[in-house]
Amino acid sequence: MQHSTSRRAFLRALGVSPVLLAGSAPRYDLVVQGGRVIDPSRSVSERLDIGIAGGVITRLASDIPESDARQILDAREKIVTPGLIDVHVHVYDGVAGVGIWPDKACLAQGSTTVLDAGSAGATTLAGFRSYVVERAETRVGVLLNLSTLGLTSMRELSSLAYADVDRAARAIEENRDIVFGIKVRMTRDIEGGKDLEALRLARQLAENASVPLMVHIGVASSPVGRFLDELRSGDVVTHSFRARGSILDASGLVLPEALEARQRGVHFDIGHGAGNFSFDTAERALEQDFLPDTISSDIHSGNFDGPVFDLATTLSKFLHLGMSLEQTIACATSTPAEIFSFPEPLGTLREGAAADVAIFELAEGHFELTDSGGATRSAARKLVPVTTVKGGVVYPR
Ligand SMILES: [Zn+2]
Repeated sequence: MQHSTSRRAFLRALGVSPVLLAGSAPRYDLVVQGGRVIDPSRSVSERLDIGIAGGVITRLASDIPESDARQILDAREKIVTPGLIDVHVHVYDGVAGVGIWPDKACLAQGSTTVLDAGSAGATTLAGFRSYVVERAETRVGVLLNLSTLGLTSMRELSSLAYADVDRAARAIEENRDIVFGIKVRMTRDIEGGKDLEALRLARQLAENASVPLMVHIGVASSPVGRFLDELRSGDVVTHSFRARGSILDASGLVLPEALEARQRGVHFDIGHGAGNFSFDTAERALEQDFLPDTISSDIHSGNFDGPVFDLATTLSKFLHLGMSLEQTIACATSTPAEIFSFPEPLGTLREGAAADVAIFELAEGHFELTDSGGATRSAARKLVPVTTVKGGVVYPR
């Protein structure tokens, strides 16, 4: 990739053709040609060409002349979406537990923007900036862990002394360009069953910093409904459809606290992960019209080889469950972009936005999809990442 010859060979392998021209310079550096473009931010779902120049999207049109393009990326028969936004990943490779390098697990699979959900805390945030944010090709943001330890320990709140709100607040102020929210995990390991106390500290930190709070729900000392009652408009619940400690009660009905939270503007995320997505829970929730707001992978080194694989596979599970392609794509593009205050337009293909584009094959056949508990479903369609473009640069699978 460093050398132009190998890059040319690589682009040929992707079906990218250089277009040679006499006369004036082509108008577009790259044209993504002929794909079915799904851009929920503008309710677009049709065959279009995308013209890219200077790293931004400059035109969407039904037929951009090939002579206007320096390079053409053939997307005929493919699904073309805004670069995906995965709001729950773990990419502090080498420092926090289960970190994985984002360019492999995310960018190459169609996710151009990711939020690392709590791997970094106040004491490890500077390292996260230097070793991940500044080195990855993937656009990486942070949901800062309430615990100063981040996930260097998986018992990060085993002492509430680690919930140093002043220190976290200073870290946010010094890193506003990369911190987009707060993360707290409600687990059994929280010191002395003080889970509600930890949650209130996290909520106060988010309030003071004017960023959303993402709360990991599950089996903890307090019931999930008590956590949901603490959340405010703009906050995000992750692991909503896990097997135990989900948004369902023991009889499979959506908790009244979850319905009330949604009314208040609280968002519900998936965060599939190795232990946090159950087909049974998802089927019961969707039967009650409780759809996710965002669909995230919770990708990490412990689930990249299955059952998660990538965000596209997680999205495919929701296609199988009956959500439309447009609804599913919205959960990983336009909706996360509305929830988190990114400094530039993301999750959209509108003209002027960063040229972040994901290209997928919508494969048809029989695909066995597996949840976090090992349950399987046989799906007839699967979104398979083919090529990612970020800032106008083409990346391989
Ligand atoms: Zn996670």
